[in-house]
Amino acid sequence: MTEIDAVLVETKSGRVAVRANIFIDCSGDGDLASFAGAPFEIGDADGNMLYPTMMFRLNGVDPDKAGEAWKTIPALMDEAEKRGVHFPRKGAIVRPMKHESEWRVNVTQLKTGNGRAIDGTDARELSAGESEGRRQALAFFEFLKANAPGFANSYVVDIPPQLGIRETRRVTGRYSLTRDDVLLCASFPDTIGVNGWPIEAHVAGDVVWGWPDIPGSRGFNHLPYRMLLPLKIGNLLVAGRCASMTHEGQSAARVSGACFVMGEAAATAAHLGLAANADPVDIDIRRLQETLKRNGVFLGMETP
Ligand SMILES: Cc1cc2nc3c(=O)[nH]c(=O)nc-3n(C[C@H](O)[C@H](O)[C@H](O)COP(=O)(O)OP(=O)(O)OC[C@H]3O[C@@H](n4cnc5c(N)ncnc54)[C@H](O)[C@@H]3O)c2cc1C
Repeated sequence: MTEIDAVLVETKSGRVAVRANIFIDCSGDGDLASFAGAPFEIGDADGNMLYPTMMFRLNGVDPDKAGEAWKTIPALMDEAEKRGVHFPRKGAIVRPMKHESEWRVNVTQLKTGNGRAIDGTDARELSAGESEGRRQALAFFEFLKANAPGFANSYVVDIPPQLGIRETRRVTGRYSLTRDDVLLCASFPDTIGVNGWPIEAHVAGDVVWGWPDIPGSRGFNHLPYRMLLPLKIGNLLVAGRCASMTHEGQSAARVSGACFVMGEAAATAAHLGLAANADPVDIDIRRLQETLKRNGVFLGMETP
């Protein structure tokens, strides 16, 4: 087992070495794990990753005229395509926010010249995605203004400061969460919490969903602690969308709820490891689960 001694960070005060006994990689991209030599996977069997999206937010929408626009906009897009308009993807998610005149738009899709998803670990591709994402966002905004009832007087409130990356490195751990685990609502003895999101695969030109049997199943899967334990590096935990999952498992458990669960479990495990002078792999799982439960985490053990 390799141990990480220090992380070098560039700061306003220059280069700083942050030393610790246990590290947690929550970079989304598994930067620390991969730089330290942990094994990882990228994409499906052909290396295809989920596509990134530049979202944006509108205000000035007339909610009465817009109605349930999320149901009608896909049909408007189909009609426009017949007139020769091209959209980066189907499956537009256009939904109101808490304030009824404010809406979020999730519809762009960023690819390279050869049609593959922009790679969020490649600085040049990221830069290209930033400008193309803004171009696509503004083009769809113009489409909404001209075609969607209630959007004529809308305006862009914000475009994110960074392109939204869904998948890059998935750091290989002692267990990798799979598609079947999600769809069959798997249970694990080392559960640290649950994921209730279905498969949401952002494939070329579309979004493909996969659901557990509802209402036949309990509708969530356990997340096992082993997902957070990378191979080869002893004093490292990985949490979030770069934790150990297959490409399809990640298309579900990469969402915020599961990332919160993993982050809390990783921090708690690190605390227990430091207190016991043990690497994360050697901590007492029962104690981890009891601590998480005491702090309000739903471990999902009570629901068969
Ligand atoms: C367009 C889009 C829409 C989405 N919509 C939803 C939704 O509606 N609901 C939902 O639940 N989920 C949604 N998701 C998924 C979810 O938001 C993310 O997968 C999740 O937030 C990932 O969490 P994370 O903690 O793993 O990574 P992040 O939230 O990305 O956090 C990683 C942090 O690490 C920092 N970082 C990265 N590299 C370094 C480095 N080398 N050094 C220092 N810091 C670094 C980053 O700046 C960032 O702050 C969406 C994702 C996208 C892209």
